[in-house]
Amino acid sequence: MRRFQLLINGEWVNPIGDAWIESKNPFNGEVWAEIPRCTANDVDKAVNAAHVALTKGAWAEMTASQRGMLLHRLGTLIARDATKLAEIEVQDNGKLFAEMSAQLNYIPQWYYYYGGLADKIQGSTLPLDKKGYFCFTRNEPIGVVAAITPWNSPLLLAAWKIAPALAAGCTIVIKPSEFTSVSTLEFARLFEEAGFPPGVINVITGFGSEVGSALVEHPLVSKITFTGSDTTGKLINQQAAAHLKHTSMELGGKSPNIIFEDADIKQAIYGAVSGIFAASGQTCIAGSRLLVQESVYDEVVDKLLEIARTAKMGNPMDSTTQVGPVTTLPQYQKVLDYIEIAKKDGATLLLGGLPGRAPGCEKGWFVEPTIFGDVKNHMRIAQEEVFGPVLSIIKFKDEEDAVAIANDVRFGLAAAAWTKDIGRALRMSEKLKAGTVWINTYRAISYMAPFGGYKDSGLGRENGQDAIKEYLQVKSVWINS
Ligand code: NAD
Repeated sequence: MRRFQLLINGEWVNPIGDAWIESKNPFNGEVWAEIPRCTANDVDKAVNAAHVALTKGAWAEMTASQRGMLLHRLGTLIARDATKLAEIEVQDNGKLFAEMSAQLNYIPQWYYYYGGLADKIQGSTLPLDKKGYFCFTRNEPIGVVAAITPWNSPLLLAAWKIAPALAAGCTIVIKPSEFTSVSTLEFARLFEEAGFPPGVINVITGFGSEVGSALVEHPLVSKITFTGSDTTGKLINQQAAAHLKHTSMELGGKSPNIIFEDADIKQAIYGAVSGIFAASGQTCIAGSRLLVQESVYDEVVDKLLEIARTAKMGNPMDSTTQVGPVTTLPQYQKVLDYIEIAKKDGATLLLGGLPGRAPGCEKGWFVEPTIFGDVKNHMRIAQEEVFGPVLSIIKFKDEEDAVAIANDVRFGLAAAAWTKDIGRALRMSEKLKAGTVWINTYRAISYMAPFGGYKDSGLGRENGQDAIKEYLQVKSVWINS
């Protein structure tokens, strides 16, 4: 078993309280690593280090192009270590190695992209309405950033925050989830090798209520960028509001995936399967509500069951495995609870519904791919985020009905529509209230495409050129000539 230390001010240290948290492998429930259980004292050390690095020394004096080059170098180091980092992610969160490997090989792009943008941050000169004055704007780093990430894709979601924040000239303290901190700690070994001065990026670990909260409250933190549940996001926003701190929030979802009768049904069904069952449903963009037009409902359900029934459960490191475990024990129990709630509310169980007990999986936190039919949109299974391999199928009559059902939920992270009618595709892109709308595809993401939520799914956007603005503040400079 490996014990990991914290990275504060460029040094690897034990937590002040010398307390540790066990990291368990979801495939077999075994403890495979220990991570530091920090307290507010460690938070204070990390934030102070980030504040010093922000205000004086090598990072503060660096040009934007030099910052960009460091980000680029970090990207190349991640590419070099992609396999090792992917293996750690699998041990920590149980996702399939194939998926984590693809993710790790894509993550460097965020560092290259924002590294390239670092020296393109420009102010403007203003055509003033006052004679004798000259006015221009400067874009300055917003300050010390606290980045809090969830357990489902630690390194990908950290990249969405670290790359633009550093490109903007900020310094950062990252707090990964207590369930999956190891990959972030291992990744942090690359910061020094990439050439980042001490204190620019710090990693602390521990429980949200102890460490996350202390980070949010710390007076030297100017901005909180958070990815996680909407419950925690709202709590953090309340705390941040008391100190007028800036926040960006990437929260949960209950995304509708709509199959119209004119869709390429085969393609749509594959989209539906990967939409919900990839990563065992533990993605914020999971297509957990499948809306199917009544004229093709039976056909879609039959074919969907045929495919889902054959999904192979197993060791996530095995290349033939299609369904891995749920990442945490509490989450595993929550998913099974939701299955019971759905049955009680009158949804029809069409597939699964039980803990996964395939050979070799007995000790892990597996849930069978589960499909409910005859779901009504008001049911809890259609309204609340399960974050597991559970699909709710809802029947609709026509386009108007589909839009009404799709939008009748408090989340708005993503939505998809499957249709061959270009007019309908365009109408859907306008009418679906979500930060991302896919037409005839599901799950596509890119460092270039803004990502974020409508409604309870979040505040602000990550990815794309504008994400850098989340880490900048504008100063107007007036000169009396
Ligand atoms: P969570 O809200 O329980 O925890 C997220 C992080 O917040 C963890 O690091 C946790 O330690 C920390 N935290 C918990 N309480 C805190 C507090 N009081 N103050 C500060 N920090 C605190 O979420 P989770 O269970 O780890 O992740 C699953 C959730 O994340 C789902 O709702 C999912 O939809 C969401 N998510 C959203 C996106 C997105 O981009 N919108 C991406 C992935 C996951």
